Parts: sequence; structure tokens; C-alpha cells
Amino acid sequence: MSFSVNSSPTALISGLLAKTNSADQAAFMNLSCVNFPKHLEPEKSPEEVALAIFQTNAVAAGNGVGIFPRMARLNHGCSSAFNVVYSWREKEGVLVVYALKSIRKGEELLTTYTELRRPREQRRAYLTEHYGFYCTCSACSIPEEQSRASDIRLATISEEYGRFATWGNHEISGKEAIDHIRKIWALEDEEGYWSERGRLAADAAWIAAAHSE
Ligand SMILES: [Zn+2]
Repeated sequence: MSFSVNSSPTALISGLLAKTNSADQAAFMNLSCVNFPKHLEPEKSPEEVALAIFQTNAVAAGNGVGIFPRMARLNHGCSSAFNVVYSWREKEGVLVVYALKSIRKGEELLTTYTELRRPREQRRAYLTEHYGFYCTCSACSIPEEQSRASDIRLATISEEYGRFATWGNHEISGKEAIDHIRKIWALEDEEGYWSERGRLAADAAWIAAAHSE
């Protein structure tokens, strides 16, 4: 598909939308959007609404971006609160949502909209600015004292990642690198933050192999 370089983002999105069937159009227009221009009225500017919906909900899909109306319904949770991640599978041309932990029947699926290794206050400020909501997920609603402990754990995880990364420049030994992974693993266990497990295990295996002789 090609578009004139003169077409505006608004015209581009509306043009693409017009090519889909009416059920898909309805599913798309039902999605939420943030940062809709304040000087416009949504009822009078459906094309601007479509653009705002696109900007709010589009996700990377291989070399392009896409809108996935069912996945776009997923709400956000921080740290221990989110339980699914998603990724695009090029071969099948589908976006797959993966569970990170066991999910009880009826439990809400929550993904994450942002980098989570930062304190509650910063996460809330970011989510308010970019997504228009003040986060009250289960990780953000814990009592003050527990929240401070969580902030410290998340900051320590970030620091440990920073130290671990120096292995790539040969600044630390393989054993030290694995020790950092162990610390991250233990902290994430305590925090209930499991999304990085696969990656961490792969890194540990890679380091062990590199230092095997
Ligand atoms: Zn939260």
C-alpha cells in the first residue's frame, strides 16, 4: 500500500480505517484514547478521534505498527501487578499475549505500559502524563512502608543491572556477572516481578558457557 507524501497523519489513518470492514471499524472506534486535542469536539471530528485512538493504542509489530483491538483492551499493572506480556510473531503474523504467572479464572489480565523499574511516584507521574490515569494497581496501592521497600528493591534491581552490564566490557568476571544475576533474581522474586526471568536465565547460561573452560 502506498500513500501520497502529502497525506496528513489524520488522512492516513482514516484512509486505512476505511479499507477495513464495519465490524473492525467499530472495534477500533470503541478503543480509548488519551490526549485528544482540547480545542476539538470528538463528535465533530471523527478523523481526529481515529488518529488519537491510533496514537494511544498502536504497538510495534515487526517492521510496522498495528492495532490489536482485543489486546488493546488490556489494562496496566506495575511491578508484581502485571501478569502478561505480548510480542509480535513475524512468521504467523500474529500478536501473542503470554502469561507470566498462573492466572486464576476471572482474574484480570494486566500488561504494562512502561518501564517499571522505577519508584511508584515516577511511574504514576509517567502514566498520568502519557496515559491519563493515576495508577492504583495492586503494586501501587500497597501501604506506604511496603511501597518504600518496593521502591528500594526496584532501584537496587536497576543498579544490579547496571553492574551486570559491565560484564560485556570485561570489567567484571563471569562469576561476578552471575552473582549479579542471582541478586536480581532474588530481588525480583521478593518483588513478584517475573517478566525478566527468561532473559535472565538465558544470560546466565550464556555467561556460564563463555567461561566454561
Ligand atoms: Zn501501578
